[in-house]
Amino acid sequence: MNDYYDILGVNRDATQEEIKKAYRKLAIKYHPDRNPGDKKAEEKFKKINEAYSVLSDESKRAQYDQFGSVGDMGGFSGFEGFESATAEDIFDTFSSVFGDIFGDFQSRRNRRKRPQKGEDVRLNLTIDFKEAVFGAEKEIEIKNRKICPNCNGTGAEKGGIQTCPYCKGRGEVEYSQGFFSVRKTCQHCSGSGKIITKTCKRCSGSGYIYEKEKLKIKIPPGIDNGNIIKVSNRGYEGRNGGPNGDLYIYISVRESDLFKRDGKNIILELPISITQATLGATIKVPTIWGEEELSIPPGTQNNRKFIMKGKGVELSGTRGDQIVIINVKIPTTITQRQREILEEFAKESGEELTYKDSIIGKFKNIFK
Ligand SMILES: [Zn+2]
Ligand SMILES: [Zn+2]
Repeated sequence: MNDYYDILGVNRDATQEEIKKAYRKLAIKYHPDRNPGDKKAEEKFKKINEAYSVLSDESKRAQYDQFGSVGDMGGFSGFEGFESATAEDIFDTFSSVFGDIFGDFQSRRNRRKRPQKGEDVRLNLTIDFKEAVFGAEKEIEIKNRKICPNCNGTGAEKGGIQTCPYCKGRGEVEYSQGFFSVRKTCQHCSGSGKIITKTCKRCSGSGYIYEKEKLKIKIPPGIDNGNIIKVSNRGYEGRNGGPNGDLYIYISVRESDLFKRDGKNIILELPISITQATLGATIKVPTIWGEEELSIPPGTQNNRKFIMKGKGVELSGTRGDQIVIINVKIPTTITQRQREILEEFAKESGEELTYKDSIIGKFKNIFK
């Protein structure tokens, strides 16, 4: 399957604005009206619309990011049949972004009055390793988009709306082409039948205002890098009495200096000395739950793994383990006395330190 981000040429953390912009550019280029009879352009146009319909919807995008496909609500198995989507659906996506640039979409006029769910909003949040393991309460700031209370979303000051003089309020114009009379959406009022003569000062005509708002959210313990928290009803405000969109928080976890996460398990690299490795030792080892003792048997090799049961991350009632990977450190500076002892040690082992040739010879035999 083609990657939706690749199709639109955007990064995986692209904002909705960036996604919309990329979509606009590509959709204009490959629109069938611009490429009549070009099957390849048509296919491309479909793909672009498919990608956009998923990535522009934060709930579908979240599913896609996590599972690589978009299934029905609840079960993430099947792929929502975009193949069977009608041409109308595709152009519905298209017209919701473009308005009526390419033609007449009757449904657009009706849609204005219909209750519409507000857009979903995506937010990236970086938390500390510890917060991810044990959970946390965080206060985040969200930018909330609301219908402008001054103009009620119309974008006009009081008395600043007039009936469109071009279409006389009908929203469409008729013109003759040979024997035919063709109806087209009025370009001056985009089919609304009204034009704004005095732009609303509060929202500069957009119909929306943006308010910063603080929001307390609970980070559940055991959350991991790439997880997504859904906060229902905290997206953009719905229109015409429709419900609000939802807020999707994408979690990134800062790395810890000590621990690495592997799902429920914690991985810790433990440096020990050559004497500890050789003679064995009991070592105090950090775990996310505090210091714990770990017994290293004599003759422990480098990279050997020890499992500390139940010292990993707790998730839905069960705990993972801590996996300790031994890293035997070879000393880089030693005292004269240590040198003498090690030389004595070598002699006792029957090693000859000065004759390098014989050591190389030994290796040669191994690799032959
Ligand atoms: Zn008009
Ligand atoms: Zn306004």
